[in-house]
Amino acid sequence: MPTRSIIEPFRIKSVEPIRMTTRLEREHFLEDAGYNPFLLRAENVLIDLLTDSGTGAMSAEQWAAIMRGDESYAGATSYYRFAEAVKGIFGFRYVLPTHQGRAAERILFTTVCKPGDIVPNNTHFDTTRANIEYVGAQAIDLPIAEGLQPELLHPFKGNMDVDALEALIADVGAERIPLVMLTITNNSGGGQPVSMANVKAVSSVCKRHGLPLYIDACRFAENAWFIREREMGYAQMSARDIARELFSYADGCTMSAKKDGLVNIGGFLATNDEGLSRQESRLLVLTEGFPTYGGLAGRDLEAIAVGLNEVLDEDYLRYRIASTAYLGRHLSDIGIPIVQPPGGHAIYIDAAAMLPHIPPEMFPGQALVGEMYLEGGVRAVEIGTVMFGSTNAETGEIRTAALELVRLAIPRRVYTQSHIDYVCEVMSDVFAGRKRIGGLRMVWQDPPLRHFTARFAPAR
Ligand SMILES: *Cc1c(COP(=O)(O)O)cnc(C)c1O
Repeated sequence: MPTRSIIEPFRIKSVEPIRMTTRLEREHFLEDAGYNPFLLRAENVLIDLLTDSGTGAMSAEQWAAIMRGDESYAGATSYYRFAEAVKGIFGFRYVLPTHQGRAAERILFTTVCKPGDIVPNNTHFDTTRANIEYVGAQAIDLPIAEGLQPELLHPFKGNMDVDALEALIADVGAERIPLVMLTITNNSGGGQPVSMANVKAVSSVCKRHGLPLYIDACRFAENAWFIREREMGYAQMSARDIARELFSYADGCTMSAKKDGLVNIGGFLATNDEGLSRQESRLLVLTEGFPTYGGLAGRDLEAIAVGLNEVLDEDYLRYRIASTAYLGRHLSDIGIPIVQPPGGHAIYIDAAAMLPHIPPEMFPGQALVGEMYLEGGVRAVEIGTVMFGSTNAETGEIRTAALELVRLAIPRRVYTQSHIDYVCEVMSDVFAGRKRIGGLRMVWQDPPLRHFTARFAPAR
């Protein structure tokens, strides 16, 4: 068979118009938004690559399942269908639905952490870190050294540094570590996958010290596909079997179904520990809802049950990973420095390398997302000093992040190849005029998740 193009493995049944705007209009919109794309109105965005979270298109089967939703307060059929889908893939014995990933995080960390505790992860996602810090514990990132070098090629840049984990445990003592986490794929580290070998190695360190291992499972299917493509011994295995094996090394997981659940809202918290699950369901009842709906409608649970199985479809995953790589290859050909190799759900531009004339204290990533919007109505997000840095309230001194990245996240099953070609044309023009892009200063902020609401002005 000749090699043919990898195409979108679906046809379109329902469409949503998107609106063109003029550059002059966008200048006003961006200024009104304080140069923060989170504060733009979505109707004024043409191609929205802000996030892949909850922005995917559901399938005809998912919409059909929505009609089947059982809205009983307790014991709904939809809950059992959801729980069965989760157990079939993830294998954990107890599962609590939550309205999204961060609710699962809050319940988990409120239950297992006390002030002074330490939670290691390959790289904590922003809400994970914030929820750990909120209960007075400390979130520590232990990525492998390769993960911090944007242009370096490595098949599993999302891996945790296992020696650093051992050293940390030896240093602070296992009793201060309530659990170890692995984020698959490593979102904040560039959407990079974690290898099965790394999961096994981390798991064995955890077992040796009696520590539970939790997986932040948001992009488990994309991670499974990378293992299949890149790790010896997995080429013939299905994504489902790879996922099952991976979760068998862990004691529980948190999940935002807004990613690889292929739904617009939902999440869950799973564990094998009955006593822990009972404690967690007490908190769940307090703020989310009864344990068989956890802040979701029955129809949401149905859509998740279908989505979790659809996301493991081979044609879907092949297309998904290929389409992200397509954007990465084209940006790279233009000369734009990106995190290599392309991750699963997004392309990360190295804004510090692209805009060396803007120091980290003037937010080169934030300046770049502003320019992308002005140039072509494309919305992206800064993942750098705005998101992970901080400003000393007394001295005004700015603590900068390790990397200044801009993320172009690809919503699942939403944009076609011509949309992505348009994005590449916009980025080509942004790149040509990069020397004229100026830095920003932050004029208002509200930590700890300041990136959602911060306001900026041109630095002069
Ligand atoms: C999105 C995400 C979360 C939080 O999930 P929400 O549904 O947005 O609350 C946690 N971890 C990772 C890696 C994520 O990408």
